[in-house]
Amino acid sequence: MAEIRVENLRKTFGDFVAVENSAFVVEDGEFLALLGPSGCGKTTTLRMIAGLELPTEGRILLDGEDVTFNRARDRDIAFVFQLFALYPHFNVRKNIGFPLLAQRVAKAEIKQRVEETARLLQIDHILNKSVSGLAGGDRQRVALGRAIVRRPKCFLMDEPLGTLDAEFRDVMVRELRELHNRIHATTVYVTHDQLEAMAMADKIAVMNQGLIEQFGTPSEVYNRPATMFVANFLGSPPMNFIPFEGGLEKGSGTVMVNGSAIDVPQLHEDLAPTSLSLGIRPEHIRFDDAAPLRGSVYGAEYLGTTQIVAVELGDDIIKARVASDRLVRIGETVGLTFEGPKLSLFEQGSGRAIRTALHEGASHG
Ligand code: ATP
Repeated sequence: MAEIRVENLRKTFGDFVAVENSAFVVEDGEFLALLGPSGCGKTTTLRMIAGLELPTEGRILLDGEDVTFNRARDRDIAFVFQLFALYPHFNVRKNIGFPLLAQRVAKAEIKQRVEETARLLQIDHILNKSVSGLAGGDRQRVALGRAIVRRPKCFLMDEPLGTLDAEFRDVMVRELRELHNRIHATTVYVTHDQLEAMAMADKIAVMNQGLIEQFGTPSEVYNRPATMFVANFLGSPPMNFIPFEGGLEKGSGTVMVNGSAIDVPQLHEDLAPTSLSLGIRPEHIRFDDAAPLRGSVYGAEYLGTTQIVAVELGDDIIKARVASDRLVRIGETVGLTFEGPKLSLFEQGSGRAIRTALHEGASHG
């Protein structure tokens, strides 16, 4: 397996910049998810790593070797597409073994590697079945088998679960992660689905309009988002933003939200008066009758064990995730507390998070 290093990658199509200043390292055996909305440059990044697209600028290194201008087939990388093409007239065994046949590997070795791969994917019982009658999950496993059997340096996957229905997707997310735990193959996985990325990846690169907004562990990007975009893209419902005016001083600070003082994390430097936003995730808001911060219930969405309650706070509406056994009435006044250590601060114009004492040693907070 291999380390993938991407240095200052840029890709333009005419005047359009699809990928800008992209730099990251996928360590040997690591699973990286490229996550972001449609059109943000995920697939273009992946295709450059695969050798299917030439970068306009920058370098790609595999295990330290510069492969930027190497052809795709000389990179020893396996690419798994969403719309994979299985050979419909072949059975599972032949579909999985086909890349080895093309490489002129000896028959006995093909048999052994196909069977080993099938056992790994738990499809050894269907090896002699025709692929045309297989269900979506098994077809996906066969496609994966065809990639794994080659023992490539790394795997690149572009929304491989995109066509599966929700139930199968959950199963395949688990299986893909378990498979990764077994074979430790360096993997880059493109998805627009935050839940898939969080469930599977060791690291996530959150992309927006060609740029990587944040690169970190799932916990870092979720708990310490570097930008409002990241805070908004991850989490359902996303983080609440509560704007306030005025500066903040180094050390402990307090901001006023709807007439109540809220303690915010310690700052490392003075912040001149500027437009700031407080960021708080719905699950970090508590209902507390004694709290001075008061709001009025605007609506509620029942989700089983929890409910999402929309609360009007002055001009803002924020969403709290609370236990569903707390009965709420529209228009009811509720007291709210924010879990201080979970608060974020953002500069509204740039969208950048302001570093606070909480960022130190908080990578898994
Ligand atoms: P999606 O999930 O929709 O595929 P993505 O994040 O993978 O989104 P890319 O496919 O990388 O996005 O595309 C990034 C941008 O580059 C898009 O606006 C797309 O239209 C543009 N683009 C991609 N390939 C080409 C091309 N060959 N010529 C012109 N524009 C392109």
